[in-house]
Amino acid sequence: MYPFFHWVSMVLFERSEEIFQDENVLHDDYQPQSLEERDEEVERFTAYLQPVINGSQPRHIFLYGKTGVGKTAVTKYLLQHLEQDATQYDDLQVQSVYLNCEDLTSSYRVAVSLVNDLRAPDNQISRTGYPLNAVYDMLWEKLDEIGGTILIVLDEVDYIGDDDSILYQLPRARSNGKIENARIGIIGISNDFKFREKLDPHVEDTLCERELHFPPYDAEDLRNILQKRAELAFDDNVLNGDVIPLCAAFAAQDKGSARQGLDLLLEAGDLARRRSDQQVTEPHVREAKQLLEKQRIEESMKELTSHGHLTLLAMVSSTVSDPSSVPLQKRTIYEKYCDLVHATDRDPLGGRAFHNHLAELSMLGILDRRKRNEGRGGGIYYEYKIDVSMEAAISTLEHLHLSTELNLESLREDAKKQELM
Ligand code: ADP
Ligand code: MG
Repeated sequence: MYPFFHWVSMVLFERSEEIFQDENVLHDDYQPQSLEERDEEVERFTAYLQPVINGSQPRHIFLYGKTGVGKTAVTKYLLQHLEQDATQYDDLQVQSVYLNCEDLTSSYRVAVSLVNDLRAPDNQISRTGYPLNAVYDMLWEKLDEIGGTILIVLDEVDYIGDDDSILYQLPRARSNGKIENARIGIIGISNDFKFREKLDPHVEDTLCERELHFPPYDAEDLRNILQKRAELAFDDNVLNGDVIPLCAAFAAQDKGSARQGLDLLLEAGDLARRRSDQQVTEPHVREAKQLLEKQRIEESMKELTSHGHLTLLAMVSSTVSDPSSVPLQKRTIYEKYCDLVHATDRDPLGGRAFHNHLAELSMLGILDRRKRNEGRGGGIYYEYKIDVSMEAAISTLEHLHLSTELNLESLREDAKKQELM
C-alpha cells in the first residue's frame, strides 16, 4: 500500500559483533578505572588535595603538559576518589564542578556555566543579558548556599583568553568577603605553558599556588596504557601481537600522547571490522596512521589562507622535482611559491609574510623546520622538509580545490615516479 514500507523493511543498519567487545572504551570520554604510569603525578596531586580532607582551605592547583598526557583523566580520577573518601567524615562536605573552557571564551561565559552547573536543571539562567557583576553575585550566592569545600576544575583554561577576570575573582571570593560559607579550590589545566606567562602576576601567584607538570609518555608507558584499555575494548585473541607495540611506538615518536595511541588502536580496529577481517594486524595500524594523519592535516589546512595552501604546494613540488635537495632552504621554496602564485594570476606575498607561513606549517607539524648555523659569520638559517607522508600532503592539497592552473595530477604521478609514495 505505502511504497515506503519497502524501505522500512530493508535492513540498513545491523549491529556488528566482530572485533570489538566495547569500542567506547577507546573513546576520549571514557574514564579509566585505573591509571597507568602516573604514580608520581598522582602522588603529588594527592598531597596537594590533602588539605581538603583535613577540612582546611584547598590549594589552587595548576596542571600543565601537552595534549593526551592524562591531565584530564588523572584529575577526574582523583576528584572522584576525593569526593568518595570525604564521605567518611561527617564534618566534611566536598563537591567538585568540572568545566571544559573550550567553548567558554570569556569570564562571563565561564561564570554563567558555573552558575548553571551548580543550580538545578529547572533553575538555569540564560547565557546572555545579565551584567557580569550580576552573574558573579548569583555565583557567590549559589556557592555559599552549597557551602563546604567546592573544587572547580577549569580544563583547557587558556581558552578563556584575555577576558580572565574570573581567574582573579574566584580565588579571592572568600578573602574579598563575597562568600562566607564555602571554601573554593581552583584546579586549572592547560596544554599551553605560555598561558601562565600571559597572566597578571597577581592571578598567577594565586592560581598557580601548586603546580604539576605532566611529561609526554614514552613507548613503554603507552604500551601499558594501551594494553589495559585493549583488554576491555577488543574481543579475545583479536589483536595481533604487533599491534599494541606499533601503536605505542608511533604515538611515542610523535607527541607521546595516549590519546593518539588510543585513536590509532580504534581506527585500526575499525578498519579490520569494515573489511570483515578476523584479526587486527600491523598493516591495519599503518593504514590507520595514514588515515588519521590525513584527517589531522586536512583539519589544520582549513584554518590556513590560500597562501598557506600554496606554501605547502611549493614545498611538495620542490621536493618532488628534486628529492635529493631536501631539506630545502627558504629561498628555493619561495621561488617555487612565486611561480605557483603567478600561474594563478595573483601577487605573491613578500619574503617575511611567506616566512610566517612556513613557520605556521611547521607549528602545525606539517613541515619540519631545523635551524642551521653557517659557522663563523655565516648567520643562522632554517631548512625545511615535509613531516607528513607524501600521500597525506598531496591528497590534502587535492581536497582543497586549488586553482585548476595547478596540475596536481601530474604532481601525484611525479611523486610516484620518484618513489616518494
Ligand atoms: P589530556 O587531558 O592531558 O589531554 P587525557 O587525560 O584526556 O589527556 O588522556 C587522553 C586519553 O588517554 C584518555 O582516553 C585517557 O583516559 C587516556 N589516558 C591518559 N593517561 C592515562 C593513564 N595514565 N592511564 C590510563 N589511561 C590514560
Ligand atoms: Mg584534557
